[in-house]
Amino acid sequence: MIETPVLIAGGGPVGLTLALALSRQGVRSILADPGEIMPVDLPDGLAHFTLADVRTEPRVSLRPGWRLFGFERFADGVTAHLMQVRGEGQQQVRAGYLVGCDGAGSLVRNFLDIDLEDEIAVAFGRGRVILAGDAAHPTPPASLDGLALGVADAHCLAGHLAEGMDGANPSTLLESYQIDRRAVARQIRAGADPDLFIRSRDH
Ligand SMILES: Cc1cc2nc3c(=O)[nH]c(=O)nc-3n(C[C@H](O)[C@H](O)[C@H](O)COP(=O)(O)OP(=O)(O)OC[C@H]3O[C@@H](n4cnc5c(N)ncnc54)[C@H](O)[C@@H]3O)c2cc1C
Repeated sequence: MIETPVLIAGGGPVGLTLALALSRQGVRSILADPGEIMPVDLPDGLAHFTLADVRTEPRVSLRPGWRLFGFERFADGVTAHLMQVRGEGQQQVRAGYLVGCDGAGSLVRNFLDIDLEDEIAVAFGRGRVILAGDAAHPTPPASLDGLALGVADAHCLAGHLAEGMDGANPSTLLESYQIDRRAVARQIRAGADPDLFIRSRDH
C-alpha cells in the first residue's frame, strides 16, 4: 500500500491548484485522474503559479489514467481504492486526508451521502475526507464563477491542511474550512461582489 499525507481525486483546475499550493507549503500529495491531466493556465489574478509547474513539482505525484472508486474512513486516515482506466491495475492508498476535487458529479460527495442545497453541498466533507471546487458547489449552467470559487477553495484548504499536518484535529480543520468557503459560495451564488472570491483566495 502506498502512503501519502494527501490524496487528491481529480486533476481539474482545483485539484491541480491544491497539489501545487500544498507542495509550496511542504506537503506531499498524490493526484489521481482518469484522464490525461492537462494543466491549463488559470486567468490572471487567480493563481500565484502556472498549473503546468505541477509536472516538475517534487512533492506532487501525478497518476493520470487512475480513478478513485471507493474509500474507507478511519480516525487517523483514509484508505482509498484506485483503479486503472485502461488496464486492470488496482492500487490502495493510505492517506492522511482525501480531497474530492472530482467535479460536479463527485463520487466522493456521493459516497459521503452529502446532499446539495441550492447547488451547494450541505457539508464540505466528513472527518478526513474533504470536498473542493465543483464537487462542493457544482457550477450552474451559464454561471461564470466556478473556476475562481474553486481555485480559492484550493488555496484556503491547502493552508488548513498544511497547518493540520502538525496534528490538528481533523474536525476543527474541516469546520473552519467549510465555515469560510460555504459562506463565500453562498454569497457568490446569491449574486454578491464577484471580487469576494478572489480576495478570499489567501485565507
Ligand atoms: C461549458 C462550460 C463553461 C464554463 N465556463 C466557465 C467560465 O467561463 N468561468 C468559470 O469560472 N467557470 C466556468 N465553468 C465552470 C468551470 O469549468 C468549473 O467550475 C471548474 O472546471 C471546476 O473545476 P474542478 O477542478 O472543481 O472540477 P472539474 O474541472 O470538473 O475537474 C474534475 C476532475 O475530476 C476528475 N474525476 C472525476 N471523477 C473522478 C474519480 N472518480 N477519481 C479521480 N478523478 C475523477 C475528472 O476527470 C476531472 O478532471 C464552465 C463549465 C462548463 C461545463
